[in-house]
Amino acid sequence: MSKFEYQTEVSQLLDLMIHSLYSNKEIFLRELISNASDALDKLNYLTLTDDKFKELKYEPRIDIRIDKEKKTLTVSDTGIGMSKEDLKKNLGTIAKSGTKSFVEKLSGDAKKDSALIGQFGVGFYSAFMVAKKIEVLSKKAGTKTAWLWISEGGSEYEIKEAQKEGHGTEITLYLREGEEEFLEEYRIRAIVEKYSNHIQFPIYLETEVETEGKKEKKVEQINKASALWRLPKSQISDEEYKDFYKTISHDNEDPLLWIHTKAEGTIEYTTLFYIPQNAPFDLYRVDYQSGIKLYVKRVFISDDDKELLPTYLRFVRGIVDVEDLPLNVSREILQQNVILSKIKKASTKKILTELKKLKENDFEKYLKFYKIFGKVLKEGIMSEFEFKDLLLDLLLFKSNKRDELVDFETYVKEMQEGQKEIYYIIGDDAAMLKNSPLLESFNEKGTEVLLMDDEVDAIVIPNIQQYKEYPLKAVNSTDVEEADESKIKEAQEKLAEVLVKMKEMLKEEVKDVKVTTRLKKSPAVLVYDKEDPDFAMQQMLKQMGQVDLPPVKPILEINPDHEIFQKIVEKKEYNKLGTVAHTLLDLAKLSEGMKIDDPADFSNRIYQLLEKSL
Ligand code: ADP
Repeated sequence: MSKFEYQTEVSQLLDLMIHSLYSNKEIFLRELISNASDALDKLNYLTLTDDKFKELKYEPRIDIRIDKEKKTLTVSDTGIGMSKEDLKKNLGTIAKSGTKSFVEKLSGDAKKDSALIGQFGVGFYSAFMVAKKIEVLSKKAGTKTAWLWISEGGSEYEIKEAQKEGHGTEITLYLREGEEEFLEEYRIRAIVEKYSNHIQFPIYLETEVETEGKKEKKVEQINKASALWRLPKSQISDEEYKDFYKTISHDNEDPLLWIHTKAEGTIEYTTLFYIPQNAPFDLYRVDYQSGIKLYVKRVFISDDDKELLPTYLRFVRGIVDVEDLPLNVSREILQQNVILSKIKKASTKKILTELKKLKENDFEKYLKFYKIFGKVLKEGIMSEFEFKDLLLDLLLFKSNKRDELVDFETYVKEMQEGQKEIYYIIGDDAAMLKNSPLLESFNEKGTEVLLMDDEVDAIVIPNIQQYKEYPLKAVNSTDVEEADESKIKEAQEKLAEVLVKMKEMLKEEVKDVKVTTRLKKSPAVLVYDKEDPDFAMQQMLKQMGQVDLPPVKPILEINPDHEIFQKIVEKKEYNKLGTVAHTLLDLAKLSEGMKIDDPADFSNRIYQLLEKSL
């Protein structure tokens, strides 16, 4: 017999399970059945594709046994089973990134942490919510030795050699005091019907019945084993869709939406996709788990193929079941398979279309979705070419003209007469953007400007370039202004000396000093040459690790109608221009959310001005 230490994270997780205040403990059975079903799926695939396993008896079933005397509940399967190494790896460490981030989120507050269990199925370990001791007896298909894994929680577990007839896994839970409800036949039936009715393998319940004083065993199938996704839509109730989602996703919440499609054209296949209500824990991890299971003619092939949907739809959960693929297609070949890439395309289109419908028909629900997954959808702008317009129709933006979010479609519909472009401004904070001097002329004319304050916007939005026939224009770019040429010329002449002097004084910091007609109230503003990355973009690039970018100088635009310049010209006080130039530049920077170079010097200038004004 050998003892092993759990990985620290597992001990933490077990500790939480044992002291869990989570009320919905019954989900442990769903998790065990879902594992058994996965194990049957894996073996099925091997028997059909690997010569070594061709001879093996594949009789898929899951058995639940109640022993009232010993107070045990046993779940066994005839699936792939686990070797000693498998047991150590799977039930001694946390391999899955999702579970890892779950553990990282633990706070130590039993109440809060228990609530987390509800948001996130924690697999096998959840059985410790109801069991004081667990035995896992397993024999891997194709091997001769069986192994018994035993644990009472804590920090260690044992593994010893054991006897077991066929391959597969048998998990015995020694129930805790107070958890006797899980020895009741009606309770087990109800749980299985609720969560596992439509997994595709039969689940049997073995109980003892007394007839005429004699105890007898009774075995009965207690689920439909229908592979839900293969049933016609009309035969599936909303409740069944929701419960099936919970078995495949480890999520305890209802899904927000599901999309069930049967395609019968040149390629025959079935897809059942779900959009969750909450973000999966690993949504922003590079090593996120795919949420899509691939089946060929009901035989499970893989659940780690991230190519079945584009990355920006990685929050989608569900099943793709294809008729026209050979079962023995290797996983490498799968990646380049033409049929699969066609299914991917059709599925992408379908999902985007359904989301668009949701937006049109139930905006409130859509908003809920968008708040959680909108950022991820935006990633698609960089990669989605074929359904770009469909994707763009799903995006929502803040705006200078309204309180609620607006989409491109509405923006365009409500454009001003003669307007041919979609205007936007990018920055950290919508409230600040709304007050930017850059919007002054737009506000005066009543032109709508979209306020982009998502972190990803600086990278993503300039990539949109165009929505339908309307180009997108950043309002802080030099090419946005429909300049009033004659007015500019006149102002240039009047302020000629101011411009020359300011340019000389600020030459280290700005590329140019120009007059503009875009300002109505503010004296000056910073803009960027249309070829240059703007401030938000520069920050984003820095965050991404591009530290040695050449410094990009902005252009300072000044408002010729502003009293400051009027007075300087009138009184010919060009000697005071030094303080004015530097202060205006600092103020323009501040209004863009940039840092100023010398805050102490800036403050001194302001104090002097205050003194003078008093
Ligand atoms: P998950 O099922 O989400 O991966 P679990 O903690 O429930 O996480 O299980 C960890 C791993 O243990 C599984 O991925 C699987 O490899 C293995 N496992 C669990 N139950 C069984 C079983 N009945 N038969 C074979 N392997 C199993």
